[in-house]
Amino acid sequence: MFHSSYIEISKSALQNNIAFLRQEIGSGVQLSSVVKGNAYGHGIEQFVPIAQECGISHFSVFSADEAHRLLQTLTKPATILIMGYLDNEELEWAIAHDIEFFVFELDRLLEAATISEKLGKKAKLHLELETGMNRTGFDRPSLEHALASLEKCKAQVELQGVCTHYAGAESLQNHDRVLAQHELFKNQLSYIRTSGLSPKQVHTACSAAMITYPETHMDMVRIGIMQYGFWPSPETYSHYVSQHTIKKDPLRRLITWKSRVMSIKSVPQGEFIGYGTSFQAPRDMQLAIVPVGYAWGYSRALSNQGHVLIKGTRAAVVGTVNMNVMMVDITELQDVQKNDEVVLLGSQGNESITVASFGELSTQLNYELLTRLPANIPRYVID
Ligand SMILES: *Cc1c(COP(=O)(O)O)cnc(C)c1O
Repeated sequence: MFHSSYIEISKSALQNNIAFLRQEIGSGVQLSSVVKGNAYGHGIEQFVPIAQECGISHFSVFSADEAHRLLQTLTKPATILIMGYLDNEELEWAIAHDIEFFVFELDRLLEAATISEKLGKKAKLHLELETGMNRTGFDRPSLEHALASLEKCKAQVELQGVCTHYAGAESLQNHDRVLAQHELFKNQLSYIRTSGLSPKQVHTACSAAMITYPETHMDMVRIGIMQYGFWPSPETYSHYVSQHTIKKDPLRRLITWKSRVMSIKSVPQGEFIGYGTSFQAPRDMQLAIVPVGYAWGYSRALSNQGHVLIKGTRAAVVGTVNMNVMMVDITELQDVQKNDEVVLLGSQGNESITVASFGELSTQLNYELLTRLPANIPRYVID
C-alpha cells in the first residue's frame, strides 16, 4: 500500500543461515549478528526480531544512532556492541544503557572512565588493536598507554573484549596480510594478558575470516553478510566448496524486492524507447512499465542492461532507467496484465535475479548494493 515497490525478508532463510553458521563455528563460540547499514539493507526493525527468534542475543552496529534504533527494536534482552562511531556525548547514553563499545583511542577510554565514575556504572570496553588494517585500533606504542590507563581506571571500566578486524579476508590475494594480522594480534593479546588484564571475549573474525580461517574464531565471531545469505566474495564460496562436499549453496538469501506492472504499451518497430536514443525497437514490441527507478535505488547503470522477472521469465530493461520508472521488454511473454508481480531482486518461479547480476562483478558489490536499498521502501517479514 502506498508504495511502488516493497521488500520481503524471509524468516526461514535466516533460520537456515544461522543454523549453518552455528554449525561452522561450533557451540563454544558466540555469534554476534552485525546489523550496521540498516541490517545490510534488510531493515533493523524487520531483521532484529526474527534474528532474536533464531536465538541471536548479541548484535554489533557501527554507530550510536544504530544502537539507539536497535535498542527500541529488541524484543528481549541482548548485548549491543558499537564497533565504530560514538561521540563523547553519546558515550554517557551508551554506558547508561549497558551498551558495549570498541575503544581505539585514549581519549574515549579516559572519557568512558570519567562517565562511568559519574554514573556509578562500569563501562564495558572492547580494546581494538591495530594489526595491519590501518583504520582504527591501538598500535603497540599507544597500547602501552591504553593498558596503563586501564590499570588506573579498573574501578570504573571493565575490559570486556579485545578485538581487531582483518583487511580483506574475502580475497586470497590478502592471505599473507591476514595471517600476519592474526599473528600480531595473538602477540599483542599475550602482552595484554601478561600485563595482568583478562578480557572476557577475544574476537577478530568477520564472515570471510570465519569461513576461511577457523583459527580466527576465538570466543566470538562478528557475522554480517553471510547471515543475509550472501558470500563475502565468489572466491570465499569457491574456497568453501573446494573444502567440502556440497551440492548446492548452503546459504539462502533473505531478500526479495518486488514491484508491479504499472502499465502496458505497444511500440511499433523503429521507435525509440524512453529518453534519448539509446534503444530503438528492432521489431514491434510490448513493454511493461514498472514504477521503480534510480530514486528507489535501481541504478541507472542498469539502463539497457538489467533484467527483472515477470511470470517466472526474465525480461530485459530497455532504454534508460528513469527516476521513478523503467520499461521492460515483454514481447515474448504471454498474457502479462497490469498489476502482475515484478521481481527486481530475488526469485520468481525457477528464475532468479542475483545481486551480482545487477552490475559488473566486484567483490564489494553485494555489500554496497544491499546497503544502498533505500530505507523508505517498506520491508515485510515472510516465512
Ligand atoms: C562489518 C564488520 C563486520 C562484519 O563483516 P561481514 O563481512 O559482513 O561479515 C565485522 N567486524 C567489523 C569491525 C565490521 O566493521
